[in-house]
Amino acid sequence: MPQQSVIAVENLTRRFGDTVAVDDLSLNVDQGEILGYLGHNGAGKTTTVRLLNGVLAPHHGTISVLGLDPLHDGVALRRRTGVLTETPSLDERLSARENLTLYAEMYCVPGSQVRERVQTLLETFELADRAHERVGGYSRGMKQRLAIARALIHEPELLFLDEPTSGLDPVATRQMQDLIRDFVGRGERTVFLCTHNLTEAQRLCDRVCVLERGRLVAMGAPRELAEAFAAPLRLDLEVSPGHLNLAHETLARMPGIESIELVESEAVLTITVTGREAIPALNAALVQAGAAVYRLVPHEPTLEDVYFRLHQDQPGVAEQRQRMVEA
Ligand code: ATP
Repeated sequence: MPQQSVIAVENLTRRFGDTVAVDDLSLNVDQGEILGYLGHNGAGKTTTVRLLNGVLAPHHGTISVLGLDPLHDGVALRRRTGVLTETPSLDERLSARENLTLYAEMYCVPGSQVRERVQTLLETFELADRAHERVGGYSRGMKQRLAIARALIHEPELLFLDEPTSGLDPVATRQMQDLIRDFVGRGERTVFLCTHNLTEAQRLCDRVCVLERGRLVAMGAPRELAEAFAAPLRLDLEVSPGHLNLAHETLARMPGIESIELVESEAVLTITVTGREAIPALNAALVQAGAAVYRLVPHEPTLEDVYFRLHQDQPGVAEQRQRMVEA
């Protein structure tokens, strides 16, 4: 079944004076996916979120969010979307329960449902025990959980999250990521996630977009991007200790191998090859030469490897970026 587009953006541009914050951006987000939106500081992530929410007007291009134009249908749209900004402003003089109740009223949650919805969110976000305390006395993690709970009070279909785990400890981070996954549930709901945390993006996101100075430079599933951009590939080769020299000599004669290094302490050769396709021939050559291969393991590239490579001026990267964005 074809996926339904929840966000459709075409040729979107937004400038601030001479700065082009978002530059000719086109992208689609499908219902039920978590889309990671990555980029250095100042790449244009927050500006995009503000454009998608109708807070800013574009200078060029079209935006459709849940079938609506954010600039003209802002009120209708905000009833169906939730937003966690980088610096969520909670009312610190009020308790968590009061904050949520206030927002429920602002978002026109039917009066008969407010109490139950607030209580469910307090329990889901593990705030129920201290729900009556002033938010000013909460830890950073508690405030962040409350801010997300607040963004969910009107049961939005689409959630925008700007750095939801920044400043959280590893346990709170993992907890928050699980909550984001739970929110998407069985695929009816969608998340647009701005993050600097590449491990988080790899763990959570179905697809990621990488932005550089307002321009989209790569888009795809983390695995696709890893395969497209994270060359060269590193392999660990362990052979019988008496066969290290034989293995080294055999590999040195082969094409497609960029470097071979002996890690003496582990009696392992670290090999750099152009890509996965080089592995079968390499293995066959070692076996044919009579080397007893104990282990030949590729280091699976991470989104972090991809991210750094995308921002380097390596030969072929620009062309690869272009192909991927056009696809
Ligand atoms: P960060 O990761 O630091 O939050 P970002 O990717 O969200 O950064 P934006 O906040 O969208 O980046 O900023 C993109 C560019 O637009 C930056 O050069 C920023 O200085 C500029 N910019 C954003 N908002 C404004 C504004 N209101 N007035 C002037 N310039 C702005």
